Amino acid sequence: MTLPRVATADILRTLEELYPDAICALHHRNPFELLIATILSAQCTDKRVNEITPVLFSQYSTPEQLACAEIAEVESIIMTCGLFKSKAKNIVGTSQLLVTKHHSLVPADMEQLIQLPGVGRKTANVVLSNAFIIPAIAVDTHVQRVSNRLGLAKSDDVFETEQQLMRCIPKEKWSSAHHWMIYHGRQVCVARSPKCEICALASYCRHWKMQMKNRTK
Ligand code: SF4
Repeated sequence: MTLPRVATADILRTLEELYPDAICALHHRNPFELLIATILSAQCTDKRVNEITPVLFSQYSTPEQLACAEIAEVESIIMTCGLFKSKAKNIVGTSQLLVTKHHSLVPADMEQLIQLPGVGRKTANVVLSNAFIIPAIAVDTHVQRVSNRLGLAKSDDVFETEQQLMRCIPKEKWSSAHHWMIYHGRQVCVARSPKCEICALASYCRHWKMQMKNRTK
């Protein structure tokens, strides 16, 4: 069972106060650049992606150019970001589909986005919310962990977590809440040894309450 509405509102208000300027950390100038950067960010830090994309886009700045790129050349540019062979194939394949099926534009539509190579719901939601300002909750590793620890969601499955978060968070806050949880997951609610002692959300947190209960047993 997820949290009552009042607790959810308190958590969201606190997160908003903690991270009022939370935004997408991936540098981009248009939906195409955000789409490619997000594909590259799988199992890679945003910092590393931000080092790679200026080089990549200086050579291939449009879907047409990346669609015609030699995979080996793309691999050599992105090789520091992990899984580079499959990512090179995916970003070239995605660019080819954008050119042949979408008039070289990124579609602002979940069903069309997830047809592109290397694009799952998380990537599609990042693009929808940041490039097109369509309310969406992208469940990455931080959102999955933080939302489940807090009790906003209760599921090991990212799709189910997304559905639960969409039910308990007001739609106008979906995109912001996604950023707030990422910031909180990076700065305080880290994967190993979360900093519960200094966490402003401890009084609401299911994980922290369970920890306290176990200590008093
Ligand atoms: S109290 Fe601990 S587990 Fe709960 S949100 Fe804060 S850091 Fe994360």
